[in-house]
Amino acid sequence: MPCDFCDDTGWKAVTTDGVRRVVRCDCWLSDLAAKTLKSSGIPPRYQKCDLDSFRDYNDTLVRAVTKAKALAESFPVVEKGLLFLGQPGIGKTHLAVGILRRIVQRTGASAVFYDTRTLLSTIRSTYNAVVKTTEISVIRPVMEAQFLVLDDLGAERPSEWVEETMNLIINTRYNMKRLTVFTSNYPEVQKPGSHAETLVERIGARIFSRLFEMCEFVEMQGVHFRELHKDPTAEEILALDKKGARLQKDVGDKRKTMLRAQLKPGKELGWTGGKAST
Ligand SMILES: [Zn+2]
Repeated sequence: MPCDFCDDTGWKAVTTDGVRRVVRCDCWLSDLAAKTLKSSGIPPRYQKCDLDSFRDYNDTLVRAVTKAKALAESFPVVEKGLLFLGQPGIGKTHLAVGILRRIVQRTGASAVFYDTRTLLSTIRSTYNAVVKTTEISVIRPVMEAQFLVLDDLGAERPSEWVEETMNLIINTRYNMKRLTVFTSNYPEVQKPGSHAETLVERIGARIFSRLFEMCEFVEMQGVHFRELHKDPTAEEILALDKKGARLQKDVGDKRKTMLRAQLKPGKELGWTGGKAST
């Protein structure tokens, strides 16, 4: 059925202060946004993620989602991107995808999502070692997209080639003033008593200092969502969150308790999920 406002031309007439002119119809933006989102590379498991469905059950997450929304609403008039830091499974990718979605739907901007390791292996697979070039069709959208998500920064084992390639991508975007949102499981600083590698050790000092100029670092803490069952209640999440990341073993035990509760005979249909935490 053709659009009621523009008869599928993509343009509609508006009259402001007695002056008639044509502007883009809303259907044009929503068609463009749908096409961009479809080809943006958002992984299937994050297809439904948006900023409104993010569960912010502690201060660090409230802060993170507030920053995510502010960025998505002010794009393209924004100076810095964001780097979400925190352990796996607490919603960093959810927020990054949510920002991408809202920016595309609001503005129709070009946007691309890439898992860092996938990006590097794609580039590597087209890399010609003899002439030291990469298929430009792979790297161009990553450099030129008005908005980019680079997920799981630091996941790739560090090497000279990785550092050079990442440096080229990140520097090009920096120089072109293109906005990027990153996520990483690696901490900015080492926690007391921890021997985990830090982000700077994974990506090198050069890229790390560039990130500082390009992004605001946003640390997130919370429950490992993949440790929970599919649809946890608010009480369950809060109970787990109180224990904190320092007690990951307890999270595992909690999960076993919940699973046992789920498996109790006769409970399958009536179990709401909240009972295990009371
Ligand atoms: Zn229309």
